[in-house]
Amino acid sequence: MQNSATPTHCPYCALQCGMNLTPAPDGTVEVSERADFPVNRGALCGKGRTAPAVLSSRVRLTSPLVRSGGTLVPAGWDEALDRIAEGLSRTRAEHGPDACGVFGGGGLTNEKAYTLGKFARVVLGTSQIDYNGRFCMSSAAAGGIKAFGLDRGLPFPLEDIPKSGCVILVGSNLAETMPPSLRFFTELRENGGTLIVIDPRRTKTAEQADLHLMPRPGTDLALALGLLHLVVAEGLVDEEYVRERTAGWEDARAAAMAHWPEYVERITGVPVPQLRETVRLFCEPESAMVLTARGPEQQSKGTDTVSAWINLCLATGRAGRPFSGYGCLTGQGNGQGGREHGQKADQLPGYRKLDDPAARAHVAEVWGVDPDALPGPGRSAYELLDALGTDIKSLLLMGSNPVVSAPHAAHIEERIRSLDFLAVCDVVLSETAALADVVLPVTQWAEETGTTTNLEGRVLLRRQAITPPDGIRSDLEVMHELADRLGVEKGFPTDPEEVFEELRRASAGGPADYSGITYRRLAEENGVFWPCPTEDTVVHAGTPRLFLDRFATPDGRARFVPVSHRAIAEEPDEEYPVLLTTGRVVAQYQSGAQTRRVDELNAAAPGPFVELHPRLAERLGAAEGDPVAVVSRRGRAVAPARITLGIRPDTVFMPFHWYGEGRANTLTNPALDPTSRMPEFKACAVRVEAVKS
Ligand code: SF4
Repeated sequence: MQNSATPTHCPYCALQCGMNLTPAPDGTVEVSERADFPVNRGALCGKGRTAPAVLSSRVRLTSPLVRSGGTLVPAGWDEALDRIAEGLSRTRAEHGPDACGVFGGGGLTNEKAYTLGKFARVVLGTSQIDYNGRFCMSSAAAGGIKAFGLDRGLPFPLEDIPKSGCVILVGSNLAETMPPSLRFFTELRENGGTLIVIDPRRTKTAEQADLHLMPRPGTDLALALGLLHLVVAEGLVDEEYVRERTAGWEDARAAAMAHWPEYVERITGVPVPQLRETVRLFCEPESAMVLTARGPEQQSKGTDTVSAWINLCLATGRAGRPFSGYGCLTGQGNGQGGREHGQKADQLPGYRKLDDPAARAHVAEVWGVDPDALPGPGRSAYELLDALGTDIKSLLLMGSNPVVSAPHAAHIEERIRSLDFLAVCDVVLSETAALADVVLPVTQWAEETGTTTNLEGRVLLRRQAITPPDGIRSDLEVMHELADRLGVEKGFPTDPEEVFEELRRASAGGPADYSGITYRRLAEENGVFWPCPTEDTVVHAGTPRLFLDRFATPDGRARFVPVSHRAIAEEPDEEYPVLLTTGRVVAQYQSGAQTRRVDELNAAAPGPFVELHPRLAERLGAAEGDPVAVVSRRGRAVAPARITLGIRPDTVFMPFHWYGEGRANTLTNPALDPTSRMPEFKACAVRVEAVKS
């Protein structure tokens, strides 16, 4: 492999920062600045800088493992692949194709996500496929499709943020989750714009804000309705825009008018003067944005909450105008691309709907199969995991660690343990992989070429920089070999560019149209925004900004969606009087399967903690660092107390990156949003107890 610097992208979050990788003579890989990529202009967080540590054979899997006598032992590739093919075949023969489940990940490249969806539907014939991105962005996607007819996380590049007059950031701690992006918000303020942060915690991001609102967890919907009420009451509706570019205003207006500011203050805990100040700051400038992240989205009313924020943008004439509008800050590395190519339970490639006959016919033709043979929509991620061991007997899992990251995680761990057969493809022996019957070690970012689509809808080329260790194969090779063993000899290429060429054809004419994007263009143009329906760069340069002329609805108008406040699924009571909210820390990523294996990151963030207000700590008699137990209806987690004035007195916070007694997701509530099927990670009732030593 080459010894010169290879320009590529970080393996972790949806910013997909550009970086150069250079193999060093001692076998390690050096990361260096890559200033040509506009998203990070060379800046990297600690996770990106230390990412090559996960390439080391010290922490990764280097041989297939098969379970023998209760223990995972090294095995050859043929034996391991044969065992998986036998396990899946047996399940299919005994219980039917839908007894085989497939679970993917938002970190898989577009090529892998596409192939996994095709593998499930063509080779296994199962409808039971979904992925962990359901837990990330599904509410924002559902809200965006309802309003605009299309979901692309950000409908504008990040570079538009500094040119806006005001940004309301709802439930995002981007200073910790994607630190290089903070630059855009700093520049916004340097340019005279205003940053408003909405978060029940005084996070590092909130510390940067001109105004910080601290609502009770789970009340973002009421907050947005209260702001819209004030917009109407103060005569700030952009009547001409509403008339020309939207539909459904009267119903949304009526719903908002039922949410008086004083009522909203009682629900959210945000004082009326702060609501009025927010409206003033948002409505005064010519341009303004609302950006949401997991805070408002990971709720059992996440879709309605997103709709409420979009309604605010529409009523004030923001969406589809320069430096303005609504956007979602997608979290996982390929969280955007992961939902566009068919690994989602209800989607086909090109972000087409699986129950649309025309979409089925188009994709079936590309795949060379009978459209009637394609299964229909399957269960959503949590429902799929919850059915393991009952309706679903065997599972093939790639790029996910649900034993740590799923809600009600102890229950999901039990469901996984009850499977007849589990196969996992991963780079490390994650907590979920450790439960498998067969584990396959696969190549990762720096060892393979592939594309991802970042949170802006910018499709990117991740280039191979080093040769993978002996004994490792790519996920594409795994699916090729399994398809062959399961009787489908053609249609599963192992070359990523060949897969991408097929993906382009499958996506052509769909909402996420990649048909004009090629590997050559991605290399030459440093990424291309979808939709891009033609290869001719003069005719179509990609679409950095959506909706400027029309929305993606049949009549080109955006839709207001009337929504009303409702309580979280589990309100505090006498037995569980406190609210738990969960989130992330800067030195760990998602379930921590990779970052917990990096010494520098582990030193910076060695374990979980319970963040709580001094008043609550005093009631418990807990001092800083004392172990405290957080107990919900689903279980108990113990971690050291971290006492801070930067959290509401009625709320505790735990990061979710760890397994064991401090696993935050032991506690979280799997109550689902009726539209997006997003679980309620962000708010559940708990009690907090001092732990006697
Ligand atoms: Fe990687 Fe995200 Fe950090 Fe950038 S911000 S270096 S993409 S983890």
